[in-house]
Amino acid sequence: MTRRKPDELQIAIDGPAGAGKSTVAKLVAERLNLFYVDTGAMYRAIAYKALRSGIPVHDETLVSELAQTTQVVLDHSNERLVWCDGENVTQAIRSPEVSRAVSSVAAYIGVRQRLVELQRLEAARGGVVMDGRDIGTYVLPEADLKIFLTASAQERAKRRWLELRKDGKSVSLEEVAQDMLRRDRQDTEREVSPLEPARDAIMLDTTGLSVEDIVAEILSLTQEG
Ligand code: C5P
Repeated sequence: MTRRKPDELQIAIDGPAGAGKSTVAKLVAERLNLFYVDTGAMYRAIAYKALRSGIPVHDETLVSELAQTTQVVLDHSNERLVWCDGENVTQAIRSPEVSRAVSSVAAYIGVRQRLVELQRLEAARGGVVMDGRDIGTYVLPEADLKIFLTASAQERAKRRWLELRKDGKSVSLEEVAQDMLRRDRQDTEREVSPLEPARDAIMLDTTGLSVEDIVAEILSLTQEG
């Protein structure tokens, strides 16, 4: 690949929940000195704001209006804080309530248009590794490298469960697996920018692979001309 200059590369990493996208994307960005943009965090921030404001997440009009007036900022320091209207929501957006609400909010075209605009502005600042669901298909269709990460449903649930446990959240593995499957179904079946691999994406099944293996594979793909 490699058409853009190394510091202007655009790498899109899409895939279902728990496939390891954010862990891998962060490391690839660090190694290549690119910005990392977690687009899921932006959708989570809007879901969080709706819940906090008492706006029903099933009300498309109200949630879309809310998205137009909400400032979502991802900082690019090592802490990778997420800000929503000046409030640090980095932790709050990972709550089970937000995880349950986010896919409804992300299905609204008004919400997506607003966030895609912010995502493209991020990409215009320089090279990026962006992870999400529609990066290769819609947000950055001209990305230099498109990866679609998958893993078995069992392994994805286990990874997410371990992450939540590390953060001190007590949920059962079964609950995590159910929530994840429901979210993937909603993301795949929605009309606007559903979760699907771009035609030119490279499929990487990460079941049984270590984070380092996956990162190494992606780095080697960036070297291929
Ligand atoms: O990546 P993460 O699991 O944090 O994403 C949370 C949710 O945000 C996804 O389940 C999906 O509904 C939505 N999302 C999306 N498009 C993206 C990124 C995330 O619809 N590009």
